[in-house]
Amino acid sequence: MSAQSYPLARSGRQVERISVAKASKASRIRSLLRHAPDSLVIAKLSCCSSASPCHSEACPVCTRRFRMEILRSARDLSFGSHEWVRVSVIPQNMRFAAGELSNLRLIATLKAIRRRTQRAGLGNRLLIGGLDLSWNTVENSDGHWQAHYYALISGIADANLANSVKLIFKPCSEVLRPIHTQRVQQPLPGACLTYLYKAEFYARSSYPETRLRVDGTPRQNVRPNRLPADRRTELIEWLGTNEIGSRLLLHGLRRNRSWSGQLSLWPSPSSVA
Ligand SMILES: [Zn+2]
Repeated sequence: MSAQSYPLARSGRQVERISVAKASKASRIRSLLRHAPDSLVIAKLSCCSSASPCHSEACPVCTRRFRMEILRSARDLSFGSHEWVRVSVIPQNMRFAAGELSNLRLIATLKAIRRRTQRAGLGNRLLIGGLDLSWNTVENSDGHWQAHYYALISGIADANLANSVKLIFKPCSEVLRPIHTQRVQQPLPGACLTYLYKAEFYARSSYPETRLRVDGTPRQNVRPNRLPADRRTELIEWLGTNEIGSRLLLHGLRRNRSWSGQLSLWPSPSSVA
């Protein structure tokens, strides 16, 4: 079956405009100049160009290119021909206090997840996912960084998949609903793919509502906001310690990077997908 037979569904904008990415890069440089003028990330972002990309996680322009490469690979691999389940997880031990985001060792963390993924019985299912971060507050207090995983897994949402997700992502037992799964409409919307590798990060302010859910549990009102200036600086510096693509998680797929830095995804040799 050709890739043309199974295009990704378009539902809204899949990737931000280049003008938006460039404006975000300029804004991050301004933030660092103001709040962390000695940061090495300033030079990295300032020197980034289409002829010589910086390949930094802190760079919105390089992140945009990476997101577009994920979309292109998904089209080439006929992702639209698969059924997919969308999974979001709040993992345990992935909460960090202000100023301690540097304790999130991305390479070691995702390496451990890859090891668990190999043992989790996903079989021939494909998995493509990413790590996201938010600065969370509850009623304007208890501010902390929280890492989340967001992934697409091919196939149907059955008990085997639920068990595999628990084994891979080790959901946090202290929050009400650490795992959320949802069947994705077919064909797969491209926006679902770019959502798993976020370009921007936000603060999440939670307020408990007096209304209860149908099951009697408390209802939370969650609003996305801009990151406070000091937390934004901390995040940009942390992102700047990682190469673009470091937040990506794959199973049944492998990545290849050309000499020019262009990413492509390929089925793993063991995968029949
Ligand atoms: Zn760049």
